[in-house]
Amino acid sequence: TVGAIGYGVYEIYNKRHPLEQKPFDPKKRTVVVLGSGWGAVSFLKSINTDDYNVMVVSPRNYFLFTPLLPSCTVGTIELRSIMEPIRFITQHKSRNVKFYESECTDIDPESKTIRITDVSDIKGSVSNTTIPYDYLVMAIGADNQTFGMAGVREFACFLKEVWDAQKIRTRLMDCVESAGFAKQAPEEVNRLLHMVVVGGGPTGVEYAAELHDFLKDDLEVWYPELADKFRITLVEALPNVLPMFSSQLIQYTESTFKQNKIEVLTKTMVKEVADKEIKVMDANKNLVSIPYGLLVWATGNCPRPLARKLMARLKESQTSPRGVLVDDYMRVAGAPDVYAIGDCTFSKYAPTAQVATQQGLYLASVFESLARIEEGQNKKITPFEYSHQGSLAYIGSDKAIADLPFLNGNVSVGGVATYVFWRSVYISNMFSFRNRFLVVGDWMKSKVFGRDVSR
Ligand code: FAD
Ligand code: MG
Ligand code: MG
Ligand code: MG
Ligand code: MG
Repeated sequence: TVGAIGYGVYEIYNKRHPLEQKPFDPKKRTVVVLGSGWGAVSFLKSINTDDYNVMVVSPRNYFLFTPLLPSCTVGTIELRSIMEPIRFITQHKSRNVKFYESECTDIDPESKTIRITDVSDIKGSVSNTTIPYDYLVMAIGADNQTFGMAGVREFACFLKEVWDAQKIRTRLMDCVESAGFAKQAPEEVNRLLHMVVVGGGPTGVEYAAELHDFLKDDLEVWYPELADKFRITLVEALPNVLPMFSSQLIQYTESTFKQNKIEVLTKTMVKEVADKEIKVMDANKNLVSIPYGLLVWATGNCPRPLARKLMARLKESQTSPRGVLVDDYMRVAGAPDVYAIGDCTFSKYAPTAQVATQQGLYLASVFESLARIEEGQNKKITPFEYSHQGSLAYIGSDKAIADLPFLNGNVSVGGVATYVFWRSVYISNMFSFRNRFLVVGDWMKSKVFGRDVSR
């Protein structure tokens, strides 16, 4: 505790008095990092800038703590509390880290250059340029999987970025207020208050859980005339939700959802998405129409356009359409001096922050070794090894589930104690003292005053 407070004070001081940093050194190699998410930030936190010039390119000038994003869709936590400006993160480095808020649109491994485009509504005189690199680290994450289904991008909400959470929150309140509109038809009220979530992975489950809490704790209080009309449905194509958890925890989740009146439709495939309804093929192979007010789409990842472009360029070595193929040292197959980590890669691990973080740390240690080898030292670079720390998910009404392999084989726990553990794990994994402070503040605020029901 004393250490944490001490560090907090140090951090506050630093925010007000940024450290003096060395400038770029033309004699050093330049590492360009693409992205400001889990992979990129864990790499940036541990790369030694005495050895390299480091430059970051990302369309977002902040890091986003994704595990708490579902909480932001209902206002349990405010978005800004889980965002951390990238400059706050890189100010701790010995050498200045250059940041360009822009999107990388092309990678040319032959000339070792990238194309970048300013992401801005108010562009300056230069909005496109080419940057050379010595080493490139791709940590661009992934796109939302839509299976090429028409209507998903147009009518559904994703849950990956800040703007997605904002859109969900606004649309949810819009549905509620419209349902309460004078003389609204009863079937329209039912439709507007039907919240449908597609995808039974952790994101879909946690979103449904947060939504349930919001309905119970707040909406039913403020909209008593609508209280018995709210409905949540979770649609999943597989036979059960949360396939990465043990069968016992899956059952626990499904029975908790049942108690909480969240309807779970497994073995159900979405076939069509329209503005007011989806058509699904149910477990008995019948085509059924499900009217909705809010549709949240969380069916996993697919490669981003930039990754697809690079994979097409390197098609001899890039043989999987599912992501950038890397070797055990995180080197991109077919592109010397290009590395890739996190969700943009095709790997044997699940696309999680846990994996991206470990890969980022690992890659920073590889770069450390490369610098020592260059100085003539004898260093051996070992392949990346993933160490699974466990899986956690929030399932609503103050309950969470955890699969923890480090406690004697495979311990599965669920319940309120797990929830307390869940919160403390997130708090202690939050990147900065500032974020911790803000998140705890938000939790207390929503406990004391309830969640904000304004649009
Ligand atoms: P990201 O963190 O997505 O970062 C990608 C970065 O690249 C972003 O900054 C983006 O702006 C940038 N970028 C995109 N395109 C370009 C481009 N063309 N040029 C440059 N930069 C670009 N994982 C867990 O382990 N535990 C959890 O509890 C958990 N909960 C989650 C909850 C939600 C709602 C979501 C969406 C994900 C969750 N995850 C969780 C998964 C985790 O967030 C991802 O696995 C992780 O973000 C992957 O890290 P990454 O660095 O590969 O990608
Ligand atoms: Mg990243
Ligand atoms: Mg992220
Ligand atoms: Mg910009
Ligand atoms: Mg109005």
